Amino acid sequence: MSDTLQISEIPVEGYERVVRGVDPETGLHAFVAVHDTTLGPALGGLRMWNYASEEDALFDVRRLAKGMSYKSAVAHTGLGGGKAVIIGDAKLIKSDELYLGVGRLVDSLGGLYTTAEDVNTTIADLEIVRRATKYVSGLSRESGGSGNPSSYTAYGVYLGVRAALGWAFDNDDPKGRTIAIQGVGAVGGALAERLSEAGAIVYAADRNQARLDDLTEKFGVKQIAADEILKMECDLLAPCALGGILNDETIPQLCTKVVAGAANNLLLKPEHGKSLNDRGILYAPDYVINAGGIVNVSVEFHEGGYNEVVALRKIERIPQALKELWTIAKEENIPPSDAADSLAQRIIAEGHATA
Ligand code: NAD
Repeated sequence: MSDTLQISEIPVEGYERVVRGVDPETGLHAFVAVHDTTLGPALGGLRMWNYASEEDALFDVRRLAKGMSYKSAVAHTGLGGGKAVIIGDAKLIKSDELYLGVGRLVDSLGGLYTTAEDVNTTIADLEIVRRATKYVSGLSRESGGSGNPSSYTAYGVYLGVRAALGWAFDNDDPKGRTIAIQGVGAVGGALAERLSEAGAIVYAADRNQARLDDLTEKFGVKQIAADEILKMECDLLAPCALGGILNDETIPQLCTKVVAGAANNLLLKPEHGKSLNDRGILYAPDYVINAGGIVNVSVEFHEGGYNEVVALRKIERIPQALKELWTIAKEENIPPSDAADSLAQRIIAEGHATA
Protein backbone atom coordinates (compact mmCIF):
# COMPACT_ATOMS: atom_id res chain seq x y z
CA MET A 1 0.00 0.00 0.00
CA SER A 2 1.35 3.44 -0.95
CA ASP A 3 2.37 5.61 2.02
CA THR A 4 2.61 8.84 0.06
CA LEU A 5 -1.05 9.82 0.52
CA GLN A 6 -1.32 13.45 1.57
CA ILE A 7 -4.57 14.45 3.27
CA SER A 8 -5.40 18.12 3.76
CA GLU A 9 -8.39 19.96 5.17
CA ILE A 10 -10.23 22.59 3.13
CA PRO A 11 -12.40 24.89 5.25
CA VAL A 12 -15.72 25.46 3.46
CA GLU A 13 -18.52 27.47 5.03
CA GLY A 14 -21.68 25.45 5.59
CA TYR A 15 -19.87 22.10 5.45
CA GLU A 16 -18.67 20.10 8.43
CA ARG A 17 -15.58 18.77 6.69
CA VAL A 18 -14.05 18.87 3.23
CA VAL A 19 -10.82 16.94 2.75
CA ARG A 20 -8.49 16.52 -0.19
CA GLY A 21 -6.46 13.37 -0.76
CA VAL A 22 -3.51 13.44 -3.15
CA ASP A 23 -1.07 10.65 -3.82
CA PRO A 24 1.57 11.28 -6.50
CA GLU A 25 2.51 7.60 -6.50
CA THR A 26 -0.95 6.25 -7.45
CA GLY A 27 -2.23 9.38 -9.22
CA LEU A 28 -5.05 9.75 -6.68
CA HIS A 29 -6.62 13.20 -6.54
CA ALA A 30 -9.86 13.09 -4.58
CA PHE A 31 -12.18 15.03 -2.31
CA VAL A 32 -14.61 14.01 0.38
CA ALA A 33 -17.24 16.52 1.47
CA VAL A 34 -19.27 15.98 4.62
CA HIS A 35 -22.14 18.41 4.48
CA ASP A 36 -24.09 17.68 7.64
CA THR A 37 -24.19 14.87 10.18
CA THR A 38 -26.84 16.25 12.53
CA LEU A 39 -29.22 13.44 11.68
CA GLY A 40 -26.55 10.71 11.51
CA PRO A 41 -23.27 9.82 9.81
CA ALA A 42 -22.95 11.12 6.26
CA LEU A 43 -23.70 8.67 3.47
CA GLY A 44 -23.09 9.26 -0.22
CA GLY A 45 -21.49 7.64 -3.24
CA LEU A 46 -17.97 7.72 -4.59
CA ARG A 47 -17.90 9.25 -8.06
CA MET A 48 -15.05 9.07 -10.55
CA TRP A 49 -15.22 11.78 -13.17
CA ASN A 50 -12.84 13.51 -15.54
CA TYR A 51 -13.36 17.01 -14.13
CA ALA A 52 -11.78 19.82 -16.12
CA SER A 53 -10.28 21.35 -12.98
CA GLU A 54 -9.91 20.89 -9.25
CA GLU A 55 -12.43 23.74 -8.75
CA ASP A 56 -15.02 21.83 -10.80
CA ALA A 57 -14.50 18.72 -8.68
CA LEU A 58 -14.77 20.70 -5.45
CA PHE A 59 -17.94 22.40 -6.67
CA ASP A 60 -19.48 19.06 -7.62
CA VAL A 61 -18.57 17.23 -4.41
CA ARG A 62 -20.06 20.03 -2.31
CA ARG A 63 -23.25 20.22 -4.39
CA LEU A 64 -23.69 16.44 -4.29
CA ALA A 65 -22.96 16.18 -0.55
CA LYS A 66 -25.57 18.83 0.25
CA GLY A 67 -28.03 17.05 -2.04
CA MET A 68 -27.46 13.85 -0.06
CA SER A 69 -28.21 15.65 3.22
CA TYR A 70 -31.50 16.89 1.82
CA LYS A 71 -32.42 13.53 0.28
CA SER A 72 -31.70 11.65 3.50
CA ALA A 73 -33.49 14.22 5.65
CA VAL A 74 -36.76 14.09 3.69
CA ALA A 75 -36.58 10.27 3.45
CA HIS A 76 -35.95 10.03 7.21
CA THR A 77 -33.03 7.65 6.75
CA GLY A 78 -31.45 8.78 10.03
CA LEU A 79 -28.32 9.71 8.11
CA GLY A 80 -26.52 12.84 7.02
CA GLY A 81 -25.11 13.80 3.65
CA GLY A 82 -21.68 13.43 2.14
CA LYS A 83 -20.00 12.56 -1.12
CA ALA A 84 -16.60 11.65 -2.51
CA VAL A 85 -15.15 12.33 -5.95
CA ILE A 86 -12.00 11.09 -7.63
CA ILE A 87 -10.67 13.24 -10.46
CA GLY A 88 -9.75 11.33 -13.60
CA ASP A 89 -10.84 9.29 -16.58
CA ALA A 90 -12.21 5.96 -15.32
CA LYS A 91 -10.92 4.23 -18.47
CA LEU A 92 -7.36 5.34 -17.69
CA ILE A 93 -6.79 5.73 -13.97
CA LYS A 94 -8.61 2.90 -12.18
CA SER A 95 -6.32 0.73 -10.06
CA ASP A 96 -6.47 -1.18 -6.81
CA GLU A 97 -3.87 1.15 -5.29
CA LEU A 98 -6.00 4.16 -6.16
CA TYR A 99 -9.11 2.71 -4.51
CA LEU A 100 -7.06 1.66 -1.48
CA GLY A 101 -5.93 5.30 -1.23
CA VAL A 102 -9.53 6.52 -1.33
CA GLY A 103 -10.32 3.95 1.34
CA ARG A 104 -7.66 5.46 3.57
CA LEU A 105 -9.00 8.94 2.87
CA VAL A 106 -12.50 7.81 3.88
CA ASP A 107 -11.08 6.04 6.92
CA SER A 108 -9.29 9.21 8.06
CA LEU A 109 -12.74 10.69 8.77
CA GLY A 110 -13.33 8.03 11.42
CA GLY A 111 -16.88 7.13 10.39
CA LEU A 112 -18.17 10.65 9.86
CA TYR A 113 -18.64 9.60 6.21
CA THR A 114 -19.55 6.21 4.70
CA THR A 115 -19.04 5.71 1.01
CA ALA A 116 -21.11 3.84 -1.60
CA GLU A 117 -21.44 3.14 -5.32
CA ASP A 118 -21.80 6.00 -7.79
CA VAL A 119 -20.94 6.94 -11.37
CA ASN A 120 -17.88 4.91 -12.49
CA THR A 121 -17.50 3.14 -9.14
CA THR A 122 -18.76 -0.43 -9.04
CA ILE A 123 -19.38 -2.85 -6.23
CA ALA A 124 -16.11 -4.60 -7.23
CA ASP A 125 -14.29 -1.27 -6.71
CA LEU A 126 -15.95 -0.89 -3.31
CA GLU A 127 -14.70 -4.32 -2.30
CA ILE A 128 -11.18 -2.91 -2.75
CA VAL A 129 -12.05 0.25 -0.80
CA ARG A 130 -13.26 -2.01 2.00
CA ARG A 131 -9.76 -3.42 2.44
CA ALA A 132 -8.72 0.02 3.71
CA THR A 133 -11.85 1.11 5.61
CA LYS A 134 -14.96 -0.39 7.15
CA TYR A 135 -16.95 2.71 6.20
CA VAL A 136 -18.34 1.27 2.97
CA SER A 137 -22.01 0.50 2.21
CA GLY A 138 -24.00 -0.97 -0.63
CA LEU A 139 -21.82 -4.08 -0.97
CA SER A 140 -23.27 -7.29 -2.34
CA ARG A 141 -25.66 -9.41 -0.27
CA GLU A 142 -22.93 -12.10 -0.11
CA SER A 143 -20.66 -9.52 1.56
CA GLY A 144 -23.37 -8.58 4.05
CA GLY A 145 -24.49 -5.45 2.19
CA SER A 146 -27.84 -4.36 0.78
CA GLY A 147 -26.82 -5.05 -2.85
CA ASN A 148 -27.63 -3.12 -6.00
CA PRO A 149 -30.00 -0.25 -5.13
CA SER A 150 -31.49 0.23 -8.64
CA SER A 151 -34.55 -1.99 -8.30
CA TYR A 152 -35.41 -0.28 -4.98
CA THR A 153 -35.04 3.13 -6.59
CA ALA A 154 -37.31 1.96 -9.41
CA TYR A 155 -39.90 0.68 -6.95
CA GLY A 156 -39.97 4.05 -5.18
CA VAL A 157 -40.21 5.91 -8.48
CA TYR A 158 -43.07 3.65 -9.58
CA LEU A 159 -44.97 4.38 -6.36
CA GLY A 160 -44.17 8.08 -6.78
CA VAL A 161 -45.43 8.04 -10.37
CA ARG A 162 -48.71 6.54 -9.19
CA ALA A 163 -48.97 9.20 -6.48
CA ALA A 164 -48.34 11.91 -9.08
CA LEU A 165 -51.01 10.49 -11.39
CA GLY A 166 -53.41 10.45 -8.45
CA TRP A 167 -52.61 14.06 -7.60
CA ALA A 168 -52.85 15.34 -11.18
CA PHE A 169 -55.77 13.26 -12.46
CA ASP A 170 -57.57 12.12 -9.29
CA ASN A 171 -56.84 8.56 -10.30
CA ASP A 172 -53.54 6.84 -9.57
CA ASP A 173 -54.14 3.89 -11.88
CA PRO A 174 -51.50 3.88 -14.66
CA LYS A 175 -53.86 1.83 -16.89
CA GLY A 176 -54.38 3.67 -20.17
CA ARG A 177 -52.07 6.57 -19.21
CA THR A 178 -49.41 7.60 -21.71
CA ILE A 179 -46.04 7.68 -20.02
CA ALA A 180 -42.77 8.76 -21.62
CA ILE A 181 -39.53 7.47 -20.12
CA GLN A 182 -36.20 9.04 -21.03
CA GLY A 183 -33.50 6.44 -20.38
CA VAL A 184 -34.37 2.81 -19.75
CA GLY A 185 -31.25 1.67 -17.91
CA ALA A 186 -31.26 0.01 -14.50
CA VAL A 187 -33.97 2.27 -13.04
CA GLY A 188 -35.90 3.44 -16.14
CA GLY A 189 -36.02 -0.11 -17.53
CA ALA A 190 -37.50 -1.52 -14.32
CA LEU A 191 -39.96 1.38 -14.23
CA ALA A 192 -41.01 0.70 -17.85
CA GLU A 193 -41.62 -2.91 -16.92
CA ARG A 194 -43.76 -2.10 -13.89
CA LEU A 195 -45.78 0.54 -15.71
CA SER A 196 -46.35 -1.68 -18.75
CA GLU A 197 -47.53 -4.48 -16.51
CA ALA A 198 -49.92 -2.02 -14.85
CA GLY A 199 -51.46 -1.25 -18.25
CA ALA A 200 -49.82 2.09 -19.07
CA ILE A 201 -48.95 2.99 -22.66
CA VAL A 202 -45.20 3.35 -22.27
CA TYR A 203 -42.97 5.19 -24.72
CA ALA A 204 -39.21 5.08 -24.20
CA ALA A 205 -36.09 6.68 -25.62
CA ASP A 206 -32.55 5.48 -25.02
CA ARG A 207 -29.23 5.66 -26.78
CA ASN A 208 -28.93 1.94 -26.21
CA GLN A 209 -31.00 0.30 -28.96
CA ALA A 210 -30.64 -3.21 -27.52
CA ARG A 211 -32.28 -2.11 -24.25
CA LEU A 212 -35.18 -0.57 -26.14
CA ASP A 213 -35.65 -3.63 -28.34
CA ASP A 214 -35.67 -5.89 -25.30
CA LEU A 215 -38.42 -3.83 -23.62
CA THR A 216 -40.43 -3.71 -26.82
CA GLU A 217 -40.24 -7.44 -27.21
CA LYS A 218 -41.02 -8.31 -23.59
CA PHE A 219 -43.48 -5.59 -22.60
CA GLY A 220 -44.63 -3.89 -25.80
CA VAL A 221 -42.86 -0.62 -24.93
CA LYS A 222 -43.09 1.82 -27.83
CA GLN A 223 -39.90 3.48 -29.05
CA ILE A 224 -39.40 7.15 -29.71
CA ALA A 225 -36.32 9.09 -30.84
CA ALA A 226 -34.11 10.51 -28.09
CA ASP A 227 -34.58 14.08 -29.36
CA GLU A 228 -38.39 13.69 -29.41
CA ILE A 229 -39.11 12.22 -25.99
CA LEU A 230 -39.15 15.50 -24.05
CA LYS A 231 -41.56 17.07 -26.53
CA MET A 232 -44.01 14.22 -26.87
CA GLU A 233 -47.58 14.61 -25.71
CA CYS A 234 -48.07 12.43 -22.67
CA ASP A 235 -49.71 12.31 -19.25
CA LEU A 236 -46.42 11.89 -17.41
CA LEU A 237 -42.77 12.28 -18.34
CA ALA A 238 -40.29 10.18 -16.35
CA PRO A 239 -36.70 11.34 -16.97
CA CYS A 240 -34.43 8.48 -15.92
CA ALA A 241 -31.21 9.28 -17.78
CA LEU A 242 -29.56 12.65 -17.21
CA GLY A 243 -29.65 15.62 -14.88
CA GLY A 244 -30.20 19.23 -15.98
CA ILE A 245 -32.77 18.32 -18.63
CA LEU A 246 -35.41 20.72 -17.25
CA ASN A 247 -34.15 24.09 -18.42
CA ASP A 248 -35.04 27.26 -20.36
CA GLU A 249 -34.88 25.42 -23.66
CA THR A 250 -36.81 22.23 -22.79
CA ILE A 251 -39.51 23.43 -20.39
CA PRO A 252 -41.45 25.47 -23.01
CA GLN A 253 -41.46 22.38 -25.25
CA LEU A 254 -42.86 19.97 -22.67
CA CYS A 255 -46.25 18.56 -23.52
CA THR A 256 -46.98 16.73 -20.29
CA LYS A 257 -49.03 17.29 -17.14
CA VAL A 258 -46.48 15.70 -14.81
CA VAL A 259 -42.71 15.26 -14.54
CA ALA A 260 -41.73 12.43 -12.18
CA GLY A 261 -38.52 10.50 -12.78
CA ALA A 262 -35.38 9.01 -11.26
CA ALA A 263 -32.57 11.20 -12.57
CA ASN A 264 -30.78 13.42 -10.06
CA ASN A 265 -30.64 17.20 -10.38
CA LEU A 266 -33.32 17.34 -13.06
CA LEU A 267 -33.76 21.09 -12.72
CA LEU A 268 -30.82 22.85 -14.33
CA LYS A 269 -31.31 25.72 -11.88
CA PRO A 270 -33.60 26.01 -8.84
CA GLU A 271 -35.74 28.62 -10.65
CA HIS A 272 -36.76 26.00 -13.22
CA GLY A 273 -39.03 24.57 -10.52
CA LYS A 274 -41.04 27.78 -10.82
CA SER A 275 -41.04 27.58 -14.64
CA LEU A 276 -42.71 24.15 -14.39
CA ASN A 277 -45.19 25.44 -11.82
CA ASP A 278 -46.06 28.46 -13.96
CA ARG A 279 -46.94 26.09 -16.80
CA GLY A 280 -49.19 24.01 -14.57
CA ILE A 281 -46.88 20.99 -14.71
CA LEU A 282 -46.81 18.92 -11.52
CA TYR A 283 -43.25 18.13 -10.48
CA ALA A 284 -42.15 15.30 -8.19
CA PRO A 285 -38.90 16.60 -6.66
CA ASP A 286 -36.13 14.29 -7.88
CA TYR A 287 -34.43 13.58 -4.61
CA VAL A 288 -37.73 12.69 -2.95
CA ILE A 289 -39.08 10.33 -5.60
CA ASN A 290 -35.70 8.65 -6.27
CA ALA A 291 -34.83 8.02 -2.59
CA GLY A 292 -35.63 4.27 -2.72
CA GLY A 293 -31.98 3.35 -3.27
CA ILE A 294 -30.61 5.40 -0.40
CA VAL A 295 -33.41 4.23 1.86
CA ASN A 296 -32.46 0.65 1.03
CA VAL A 297 -28.77 1.25 1.79
CA SER A 298 -29.60 3.16 4.98
CA VAL A 299 -31.19 0.05 6.46
CA GLU A 300 -27.65 -1.41 6.65
CA PHE A 301 -27.06 1.08 9.46
CA HIS A 302 -29.97 -0.30 11.53
CA GLU A 303 -29.26 -2.44 14.55
CA GLY A 304 -29.09 -6.02 13.35
CA GLY A 305 -28.09 -4.95 9.84
CA TYR A 306 -29.91 -4.99 6.53
CA ASN A 307 -33.48 -6.24 6.34
CA GLU A 308 -35.36 -6.05 3.05
CA VAL A 309 -38.82 -5.98 4.62
CA VAL A 310 -37.89 -2.88 6.63
CA ALA A 311 -36.42 -1.28 3.50
CA LEU A 312 -39.55 -1.87 1.43
CA ARG A 313 -41.80 -0.52 4.19
CA LYS A 314 -39.74 2.68 4.28
CA ILE A 315 -39.74 3.03 0.48
CA GLU A 316 -43.52 2.73 0.52
CA ARG A 317 -43.61 6.06 2.39
CA ILE A 318 -42.39 7.94 -0.70
CA PRO A 319 -45.94 8.65 -2.03
CA GLN A 320 -46.91 10.14 1.33
CA ALA A 321 -43.80 12.34 1.37
CA LEU A 322 -44.63 13.60 -2.12
CA LYS A 323 -48.25 14.34 -1.22
CA GLU A 324 -47.08 16.32 1.80
CA LEU A 325 -44.81 18.39 -0.43
CA TRP A 326 -47.49 19.03 -3.02
CA THR A 327 -49.83 20.08 -0.20
CA ILE A 328 -47.25 22.53 1.20
CA ALA A 329 -46.55 23.82 -2.32
CA LYS A 330 -50.24 24.44 -2.92
CA GLU A 331 -50.88 26.07 0.44
CA GLU A 332 -47.82 28.31 0.26
CA ASN A 333 -48.05 28.87 -3.49
CA ILE A 334 -44.48 27.75 -4.08
CA PRO A 335 -43.01 25.14 -6.45
CA PRO A 336 -42.76 21.59 -5.02
CA SER A 337 -38.98 21.72 -5.50
CA ASP A 338 -38.78 24.72 -3.14
CA ALA A 339 -41.14 22.99 -0.72
CA ALA A 340 -38.78 19.97 -0.67
CA ASP A 341 -35.70 22.13 0.02
CA SER A 342 -37.46 24.02 2.85
CA LEU A 343 -38.70 20.77 4.36
CA ALA A 344 -35.19 19.28 4.25
CA GLN A 345 -33.70 22.41 5.80
CA ARG A 346 -36.35 22.39 8.52
CA ILE A 347 -35.79 18.71 9.37
CA ILE A 348 -32.03 19.32 9.64
CA ALA A 349 -32.54 22.50 11.70
CA GLU A 350 -34.89 20.66 14.08
CA GLY A 351 -32.21 17.99 14.39
CA HIS A 352 -29.70 20.73 15.32
CA ALA A 353 -32.09 22.13 17.90
CA THR A 354 -32.58 18.78 19.61
CA ALA A 355 -28.95 17.63 19.25
P1 NAD B 1 -28.14 3.66 -16.12
O1 NAD B 1 -26.81 4.13 -16.57
O2 NAD B 1 -28.36 2.22 -15.84
O3 NAD B 1 -29.26 4.13 -17.16
C1 NAD B 1 -29.26 5.35 -17.81
C2 NAD B 1 -29.81 5.11 -19.21
O4 NAD B 1 -29.99 6.38 -19.85
C3 NAD B 1 -28.87 4.29 -20.10
O5 NAD B 1 -29.59 3.21 -20.66
C4 NAD B 1 -28.41 5.29 -21.15
O6 NAD B 1 -28.17 4.69 -22.41
C5 NAD B 1 -29.58 6.25 -21.19
N1 NAD B 1 -29.27 7.57 -21.74
C6 NAD B 1 -28.17 8.32 -21.55
N2 NAD B 1 -28.29 9.49 -22.21
C7 NAD B 1 -29.50 9.48 -22.81
C8 NAD B 1 -30.19 10.39 -23.61
N3 NAD B 1 -29.66 11.56 -23.96
N4 NAD B 1 -31.43 10.06 -24.05
C9 NAD B 1 -31.98 8.88 -23.71
N5 NAD B 1 -31.35 7.96 -22.95
C10 NAD B 1 -30.13 8.25 -22.51
O7 NAD B 1 -28.47 4.55 -14.82
P2 NAD B 1 -29.56 4.26 -13.69
O8 NAD B 1 -28.91 3.59 -12.55
O9 NAD B 1 -30.77 3.67 -14.33
O10 NAD B 1 -29.90 5.74 -13.21
C11 NAD B 1 -30.69 6.59 -14.01
C12 NAD B 1 -30.73 7.97 -13.38
O11 NAD B 1 -31.28 7.88 -12.08
C13 NAD B 1 -29.35 8.61 -13.20
O12 NAD B 1 -29.48 9.99 -13.39
C14 NAD B 1 -29.01 8.32 -11.76
O13 NAD B 1 -28.15 9.29 -11.21
C15 NAD B 1 -30.39 8.41 -11.11
N6 NAD B 1 -30.49 7.63 -9.88
C16 NAD B 1 -30.21 6.30 -9.90
C17 NAD B 1 -30.32 5.57 -8.72
C18 NAD B 1 -30.04 4.09 -8.69
O14 NAD B 1 -30.34 3.44 -7.66
N7 NAD B 1 -29.51 3.50 -9.76
C19 NAD B 1 -30.71 6.21 -7.51
C20 NAD B 1 -31.03 7.57 -7.55
C21 NAD B 1 -30.90 8.27 -8.75
